[in-house]
Amino acid sequence: MSLIDPVLSEILVCPADHGSLDEDVPGSRLICTRCGRSYPVRDGIPVMLLEENERGEDD
Ligand SMILES: [Zn+2]
Repeated sequence: MSLIDPVLSEILVCPADHGSLDEDVPGSRLICTRCGRSYPVRDGIPVMLLEENERGEDD
C-alpha cells in the first residue's frame, strides 16, 4: 500500500533541499529524509508547499 503513484514517488523530491521523501502512510504525508519537513497528501496528490511562517519579516 502506498499513498501516491510509485512513478510519481520516484520523481518527487523535497522542494526545500531536493532530499528524498519517505511515505508516512498512517499520517497521509511525505517526509523529507534530509530536513524532516512533511508534506500532506490529499486524495493521492502530494501538496508540496513550503510553509512561509518561518520568515518573520515585516513589511
Ligand atoms: Zn527537505
